[in-house]
Amino acid sequence: MSDLRSIGIFGGTFDPVHNGHVMVAQAALKELELDRLLIVPAAQSPFKPNQTHAAAADRVALLEVAFDGIARCEVDRQELDRPGVSYTIDTVRAVEARFAGTTLYCLIGADHVATLPQWREAEALAAMVTFVVVPRPGTAEELFPKPFRGRYLRGEPMAISASELRVRLRNGESVADYVPPTVAQLLNSMQIYSEN
Ligand code: ATP
Repeated sequence: MSDLRSIGIFGGTFDPVHNGHVMVAQAALKELELDRLLIVPAAQSPFKPNQTHAAAADRVALLEVAFDGIARCEVDRQELDRPGVSYTIDTVRAVEARFAGTTLYCLIGADHVATLPQWREAEALAAMVTFVVVPRPGTAEELFPKPFRGRYLRGEPMAISASELRVRLRNGESVADYVPPTVAQLLNSMQIYSEN
């Protein structure tokens, strides 16, 4: 049995990470009193079948600096180390095996609530985790589709998306208002989104 009581799993492509992601993490750590929050970058999202724009190593490097100063956060590379499409059910099973007996929460943006029944092994997933949603601008608060359990957090909605950031970066515009300073600095030196 693990000593930890509650674990959050926050998956995404993080291409790149931005302040919206950091806000979700902070709201969940605080409101759910998580003992650990695993940030899990996807190798390949089932909902984003085209390749990611930045290489996995670069997305991880940006995540590491973004969450460096936030206690109880860990960047978990498990989906990058698994071949093929990244399914949440596989990640949840691996987390459960690592931290036996803990309560598991999955953090998702409000844009994903309606899609939950289409996730792989939806019934099994619904039985294993509680979904936690931070509102996203333009998305109304809706009921969780059966048999999913979930709750909404109070976190302040932020109108930021990675796709908008990639456009700004490609156009040579500043992203300083949308990412932590350490991420802005690293993005500047990496130049990874300039030719996408
Ligand atoms: P893209 O614009 O490339 O689709 P994204 O900004 O939505 O990317 P993801 O990596 O897909 O970023 O996000 C990971 C998770 O964080 C998803 O569950 C997503 O809904 C959530 N999320 C992303 N941005 C926000 C935000 N501004 N507020 C709340 N949740 C967010």
